Amino acid sequence: MPEELAPKIAVIGGGQLARMMAEPAAALGIPLRLLAEADGVSAAQVIVDHEVGDYRDLDALRRITQGCAAVTFDHEHVPTEHLHALEEDGIAVRPGPEALVHAQDKGVMRAALGALDVPCPRNAIVADVAEAEAFGFPCVLKTTRGGYDGKGVWFVRSAEDAAEPFEAAAATGVQILAEERVDFRRELSALVARSPSGQVAAWPVVASEQRDGICREVIAPAPDLDPDLAIEAQQIAMRVAGELGVTGVLAVELFETNDGRVLVNELAMRPHNTGHWTQDGSVTSQFENHLRAVLDLPLGAPDARAPWTVMVNILGGAGQDSASTARLYDGYPHALARDPRLRVHLYGKGLRPGRKVGHVNAYGEDLEDCLERARHAAAWFAGELGEESE
Ligand code: ADP
Repeated sequence: MPEELAPKIAVIGGGQLARMMAEPAAALGIPLRLLAEADGVSAAQVIVDHEVGDYRDLDALRRITQGCAAVTFDHEHVPTEHLHALEEDGIAVRPGPEALVHAQDKGVMRAALGALDVPCPRNAIVADVAEAEAFGFPCVLKTTRGGYDGKGVWFVRSAEDAAEPFEAAAATGVQILAEERVDFRRELSALVARSPSGQVAAWPVVASEQRDGICREVIAPAPDLDPDLAIEAQQIAMRVAGELGVTGVLAVELFETNDGRVLVNELAMRPHNTGHWTQDGSVTSQFENHLRAVLDLPLGAPDARAPWTVMVNILGGAGQDSASTARLYDGYPHALARDPRLRVHLYGKGLRPGRKVGHVNAYGEDLEDCLERARHAAAWFAGELGEESE
């Protein structure tokens, strides 16, 4: 093995977030070691030092973290008791189990934010349909654990609608959180990185467009956002990061209401889809600052490089499968020739309808131009445009 010039970081989970940590890790000379869920997954294609194993298996976690200074995550699903065990082994767990539980369990998150007086939608844990009815319809019911990309979220208008979430919760042994259905103007995201020493870097607040619970598009900074509201959103994120003791990136997803308030929807304690724009649009990307924070190094500047950056996700289209994956690369000659300033990030994942397989970033002086370029490229890669639409 070559001599290592920096402490090694173990990363649990082989998705695209771990893959995108590899780029700044290589630049900084920080060795990564990966626990991948299967051979050939997104991050295992680029992190040479990897092993296949189950993140629920403490032995696998111990094997992968042995000799590492710190462990961090591609996802938030590692069981809390295993994280405590790793801490007892002397590994720096970042973010630590006490912080991470707030991103794992929406009930715990709501209780903590309530105690901190952070503005949230009205909410309560409800035990059955009758309690949901007493909370008031229409409302949103969510499983407290295990949801992602809109799975585990139900918009409910009646007792009849409410039956399914409780059945789903009973099957998996989780609780149901009821939330008022917020009438929002748009969704915002306030992204910060915090180091164990307490240094915090806050990126500009962005607007994200979600469809069917999946992030499609991000505009940085959020257009026409009231500067006071932007500061409030950043202060919420910095305060939550400090109070919960987060290390690494924290994404605070917010609703901007029609009456000009921000309410917290969700917390994520890892690099986040709403921060992918930072790879090309800011001085220091979320992936680099995440690694710096994990090692308690000084954080890099989060300033934007250009007035606007637009990120658009590339999602698999209807009828696509792994056999059509090569056509993503077929998109390069057109997309790269059409827009030499376009930044493309593909994840090495097979196509499936609705699956995130990559994203593009376009930055520049003019928002409409950035939107057109990024949307066109993403649609082209997704196979939604043909030659005739040129
Ligand atoms: P996930 O864990 O799957 O990301 P979220 O809690 O973020 O789930 O909910 C997914 C989407 O559902 C949100 O991005 C938002 O569009 C919508 N949503 C969630 N909670 C509410 C709410 N209280 N009121 C209105 N819409 C909501």
